[in-house]
Amino acid sequence: MSFQLGEQIIKKLNENGFEGFFVGGAVRDSLLGRPIGDIDIATSATPDRVLKIFPKTIPVGIEHGTVIVRVDHQSFEVTTFRKEGKYSDYRHPSTVDFISSIEEDLKRRDFTINAIAMTLKRDLIDPFDGQKDIKNKLIRTVGSADERFKEDPLRMMRGIRFVSSLGFELHSATRKSILCNNAYLEKIAVERITSEFEKILLGDSLKSGISELRKTKLYLYLPGLSEEMEALVKYASLPHLASSNVIEHWALFCYLAKIEGIRQFLKQWKLSNKKITEIDTLYQLLITTNNDINELMIYKFGLGTLQSLNRLKKTIGRNHYQESELENTYASLPIKSRKELAINGSDLMKWLNQSPGPWIEQLLLEIERAVVNRIVSNEVDAIKEWISWRSQFGTD
Ligand code: ATP
Ligand code: MG
Repeated sequence: MSFQLGEQIIKKLNENGFEGFFVGGAVRDSLLGRPIGDIDIATSATPDRVLKIFPKTIPVGIEHGTVIVRVDHQSFEVTTFRKEGKYSDYRHPSTVDFISSIEEDLKRRDFTINAIAMTLKRDLIDPFDGQKDIKNKLIRTVGSADERFKEDPLRMMRGIRFVSSLGFELHSATRKSILCNNAYLEKIAVERITSEFEKILLGDSLKSGISELRKTKLYLYLPGLSEEMEALVKYASLPHLASSNVIEHWALFCYLAKIEGIRQFLKQWKLSNKKITEIDTLYQLLITTNNDINELMIYKFGLGTLQSLNRLKKTIGRNHYQESELENTYASLPIKSRKELAINGSDLMKWLNQSPGPWIEQLLLEIERAVVNRIVSNEVDAIKEWISWRSQFGTD
């Protein structure tokens, strides 16, 4: 992402008589010299005007003033200047008042580092000294921390998420306020807490993030974690797990925390069943396998999962392989999936003259194992011969 395409949007807003500014994380990250993610634009145009001005739009959150504008296959969130609404349900402001000034809009934003607007000419509007806090690496609320956290308790998690991802510290007043208001986190939908927690787990400065979760006692209000602070600390004291795969971070965490009933624990975070299964699979591999990763495992679980397992083993100081060794082993597998097997279930029924049943799956698994272990080559005749040999002399 770069600001260039976004400039087109702001220019077009200007041509139609409206103001437009870059805001949010993209401005913050560019001031930090970090790669920028999504680009947010704040504008004086109301959502219906934005919809009219741009040919390609997606009305994602009209009631909160947000329209996605698509330019060159990229999405930009264009949000009308607005005031802080009342958060009656702690999810979204129940009322949204559109306003005409960017300064007023910046007031509703969570932290000073996120409340800087940038013009087309790259001039900055920074009423809360966000640049100073960026320089001093501080996370500080815009205005009264108590008020801002009570308005939207998710901001407490966001604050610590920025500590973990940016390596900043909470400003002392902001930290104190989280300590006083931490229980309000219970008002927030678990999915939203989970999304921030995952970003904390993935942060380069995880140690600082965990340390702030502890200092502010915010962990007491995280699903299943009120008793697990020691596990979190242990987790953070390990060498950094260099992976952007959140599945690995969850599995490692569950392993270190010796979580019992891991699926149940993960369910409390409202993770999808698919994700829970992926984490559980990796976790089970971590606790049950010896140190060898063999061809059959790579075949059965796939290269990705085994690479994950290998990274986790490395992180916790167990024997592990070079990435390239795993890749080479995978590349040289005789087959990579059942589809590549020279025969299928119908062949087996025909050859053995038997009706369908669970025996087919059982036999296919055995054939796969024999092929992967190079006991038999992946050719129809060879497999046929092996099956008849096997039925005479047993499976091993
Ligand atoms: P990133 O996109 O890197 O995760 P971000 O700061 O851009 O970080 P977004 O969730 O994309 O985070 O939000 C964009 C901007 O909207 C923020 O920078 C902030 O100014 C404002 N914002 C987001 N969530 C809140 C909130 N809960 N309370 C107040 N302002 C918020
Ligand atoms: Mg963003």
